[in-house]
Amino acid sequence: MASHDAVFVGAGINSLAAAALLSRAGWNVCVLEREEVAGGCIRTVDGLTAPGFTHELMASWHPLFTGSAAYAELKDELDRRGVEYLNTDLPTGTAFPDGSAAFVWGSLEQNVAELERHAAGDGAAWDAMFNGFMANADLSFGLLSTELWSGAGLGLGRTALRRLGRRGLLELMGTTLASCRDWVSSTFASEQAHGLLAPWVLHTGLGPDQATSGFMTQVIACALQLGGMPVPRGGGVKLVDALMGIVRDAGGEVRTSAEVERILVSGGRATAVRLASGETVQASQAVVASVTPTALYGRLLSSGEAGAAVADAAARYRYGRGEMQIHIAMDAPPRWRGSRADELARTPIVHVTPGLDGVSRAVNEAERGLLPAEATIVCGQPCALDPARAPAGKWIIWIQLQELPAGRVKGDAAGEIDVGDGSWTETLREAYADRIVARLGESLQNVPEDTIARVVLSPADIERANVNLVGGDIYGGSCALDQNLLWRPLAQAPGHRAPVAGLWHIGASTHPGPGLGAGSGYLVYQELTRPTLTQRALAKLPTRS
Ligand SMILES: Cc1cc2nc3c(=O)[nH]c(=O)nc-3n(C[C@H](O)[C@H](O)[C@H](O)COP(=O)(O)OP(=O)(O)OC[C@H]3O[C@@H](n4cnc5c(N)ncnc54)[C@H](O)[C@@H]3O)c2cc1C
Repeated sequence: MASHDAVFVGAGINSLAAAALLSRAGWNVCVLEREEVAGGCIRTVDGLTAPGFTHELMASWHPLFTGSAAYAELKDELDRRGVEYLNTDLPTGTAFPDGSAAFVWGSLEQNVAELERHAAGDGAAWDAMFNGFMANADLSFGLLSTELWSGAGLGLGRTALRRLGRRGLLELMGTTLASCRDWVSSTFASEQAHGLLAPWVLHTGLGPDQATSGFMTQVIACALQLGGMPVPRGGGVKLVDALMGIVRDAGGEVRTSAEVERILVSGGRATAVRLASGETVQASQAVVASVTPTALYGRLLSSGEAGAAVADAAARYRYGRGEMQIHIAMDAPPRWRGSRADELARTPIVHVTPGLDGVSRAVNEAERGLLPAEATIVCGQPCALDPARAPAGKWIIWIQLQELPAGRVKGDAAGEIDVGDGSWTETLREAYADRIVARLGESLQNVPEDTIARVVLSPADIERANVNLVGGDIYGGSCALDQNLLWRPLAQAPGHRAPVAGLWHIGASTHPGPGLGAGSGYLVYQELTRPTLTQRALAKLPTRS
């Protein structure tokens, strides 16, 4: 029977980063992955559409990883293993139906000038927003990187109180709760500024009318200016390979096609896992599960082991909207419409939307079970950063559609597509993708004629690619406030220490939620390597000279 210090269930970014960090700290770890490849949502596929085209099947953009504590600690080692990040001074923009466009740039001066061009005073508003946010950036970023149910979480609250006083803290908390709509419309005059920022709330799993989406908009606006839109040269597979290399070179294992079907509890402590093959893998210190609460408390443990209250709450855990990916190989670089076509052609993420109300409407339609009439098209252009992803002179489009129903489709808001019984059949998937590509063609004019091949993933296909993405929810569970921050994953089992000794819960379903920031993996690595009370006391003893 194999035995390790720590056993990880699932090989997504949180597991791989934590496993690499623990390996460097001298732990012997084993990462078990049910798919044939490791990486979870990071999956680089050569030739997905056509030979010579390298696509990111799911996650593509790495600003959360390059801004993370895990990267800060692993950077030198990753550099040595050939992980090279490519970046830009023009991370994102929005293309509007009238042919106009607006952009977020990589410097304060450029953003002030950009916003000012759309409405007098909006440049100064950006400047005030950025400087105001940065004055308390440690608190805002701290909220998204601290184990909130811990001494560190309490410490963050105390720092905020000391710095801001009671009134100031109350004001900051109020601002944090505001919606994107309320925040953008009370901050910027121009509709272009609203339409530039509002689509970004989709990338946090929220909609522009939900609580905390205003705070998340500010976090993202500042992060885009500071961090750009980095991608690894050659694709996310380079990062996955390097992290696996760190684990393996330290004597650990990363095993694929290894589905964990049970966490074994003995004497109230998680001590091992059993694979679907029947094999048992022992963990002397920790079992770290990167799964949904539904899987952890409903399948991998019995309700007796975690407690009935936790099992009941996990059964009620909510999943968010579904998502569709469209991958296109193009025979030529993009020809965007309008006076800012050249800037659009070198922007890695362009949102195509009528603006704030367009995003709001599409989110609302999806939440009512409908295919949106005019979805927000997230049009990714990886070749703008890494031209070698396509043969010379050709191009790749990575489209994300984050406004689709959770579960069965009840109808089409445009009244055009017959949704049948509401399941994601090939016919429904391709009909919806046709609508999106036709609309994209109004802004990115050569999409129809220059398309060589296209591959579409429906929400059902996305769940098939990664079992944690239930119903095609790419964020591992609704990020509404009652299921986020202090309450993620469950009010009955918040944070990462599961209610069974030796068992830790990480991944997108846990704080600080989805994305490639490896935040939950890093928090658990810190907790596992924290010196014990005895070690800390012994370290304080005077040494004999
Ligand atoms: C289409 C898409 C696009 C995205 N784009 C971006 C982006 O560009 N930038 C960004 O920052 N974020 C993006 N995200 C979000 C981000 O990728 C995820 O939130 C993040 O990768 C989740 O990481 P994780 O550590 O939770 O594990 P995951 O990546 O979810 O991996 C979990 C792994 O666990 C495995 N597993 C589950 N159960 C078991 C079991 N019982 N036994 C063994 N293995 C098991 C699964 O097979 C899976 O491989 C995107 C997500 C998707 C789906």
